[in-house]
Amino acid sequence: MRVSVISSVTCPVCGSFCDDIEVTVKNNVIIKVKNACAVGEAKFLNYATHRNVKPLIRKNGELVEASLDEAIQKSADILVDAAYPILYGWSSTSCEAIRVGLELAEEVGGVIDNTSTICHGPSILSIQDVGISSCTLGQLRHRADLVFYWGSNPWSAHPRHIDRYTTFSSGRFQASAWKGYLLRQSAILAKKRLSRAANLVLRRDVSAPPMMDRRLPYSLFRKERKMIVVDVRRTRSAELADYFIQVQPNKDYELLQAFRMLIRDEEIDVDEVAGVPVDVLEDVAYLMIGCDLGVLFFGVGLTMSEGKLRNIDAALSLVRDLNQRTKFLIMPMRGHFNVTGANVVFTWQTGYPYAVDFSQGYPRYNPGETSVVDILCRGESDAGLVIASDPVAHFPREAVSNLVKNPLIVIDPQVTPTSLMADVVIPSTFVGIETEGTAYRMDHVPLPLRKIVEPPGGCLPDEEILQRILHEVRKSRGRRN
Ligand code: SF4
Repeated sequence: MRVSVISSVTCPVCGSFCDDIEVTVKNNVIIKVKNACAVGEAKFLNYATHRNVKPLIRKNGELVEASLDEAIQKSADILVDAAYPILYGWSSTSCEAIRVGLELAEEVGGVIDNTSTICHGPSILSIQDVGISSCTLGQLRHRADLVFYWGSNPWSAHPRHIDRYTTFSSGRFQASAWKGYLLRQSAILAKKRLSRAANLVLRRDVSAPPMMDRRLPYSLFRKERKMIVVDVRRTRSAELADYFIQVQPNKDYELLQAFRMLIRDEEIDVDEVAGVPVDVLEDVAYLMIGCDLGVLFFGVGLTMSEGKLRNIDAALSLVRDLNQRTKFLIMPMRGHFNVTGANVVFTWQTGYPYAVDFSQGYPRYNPGETSVVDILCRGESDAGLVIASDPVAHFPREAVSNLVKNPLIVIDPQVTPTSLMADVVIPSTFVGIETEGTAYRMDHVPLPLRKIVEPPGGCLPDEEILQRILHEVRKSRGRRN
């Protein structure tokens, strides 16, 4: 019986990409995980459930077992026969595999796109237009005294973000605001108890608390770190914050522009903007200008609501304006653990971060035209390769129906709705658990993915599978030319 404890493991789940995980392995099975959140722990402990272990090829409508050589050859044939294949996914694999994927896309004259296309693609477009004032998470941990989460819910989507990098972390120049939060929670609890008791005595209903308090709480004016959440609903992250601003759905652009006006000492001649009273906005703008180092983290609440990239334009411009008065930074809350790496490697290799079209023999980039969802909705592609992603579960219905009506190759360690619809399924290893590699955290810091356990026999890393397909594609094209 062999038990080993491996420390400094990186968690291959979300863009926080925590690198302080400790994993205990017994006889090649992960039996204990320390420091990870519930999502990370669930991945380490249950990754082997619903596992693809055998290559499959669809014959007479059924997926049947095949040899790896057969599956690789069939994949190469599909890609060589296609006039306009799409190669999609990439954000949950290593940078090394992504590099080979780009080579393959160029070889077959296809379109290669990553999951940015359905999450922070608008942020990338906007950053290309406006520019970004950003930094690393380490700098924020040590120095940020005012933290905004706008249109993002880190409590659920990046569970350790607040704890590791912002409000509840202890930095060199900033103390954790955890104690203040506990005090606030006790006060809220005491208030609730009192009103319940008053209720019982007076026998009357107590109305629900207002969604947004017009008066800024005292805690926002202390010297310690402060946290403000802007969202359309009161999320768990909003409960943790010192203050919650409830914006009307699809009105973030107006709210951001109103802040810009106030920062520049311009007057707003209406009483409220996007459902928020102007006197509240004035107080918050005053706080922004008065902080030592502020940061605005934003999520898909901004990128995927009405206005999309224009919302991000306004957010980036607000931060730029704030830098005339104080120091302020901004960062997108990237989703998958290596979606940033996908953008970085795409850019190294082609000059463009996503939605790259090689059909003309050189890389072209025009999201809206060359992005995979748009190509699928127009019914233009005639084959697909999906790697480390599940578009059948996440794409719009029209895109999915056009994706699955063409020959489809799926490279994935897990059984997913996409793999069940595929014509070829190639099982791969879990990067960060069974294979090492490199990934980029949301702040563009590269970190290593560790190999912790041996994969099942016959499962190869994504990089090797792609190399083998590329080799067969080159052989077939050589034969045909
Ligand atoms: S916050 Fe994200 S990266 Fe960190 S342990 Fe949780 S799932 Fe993993």
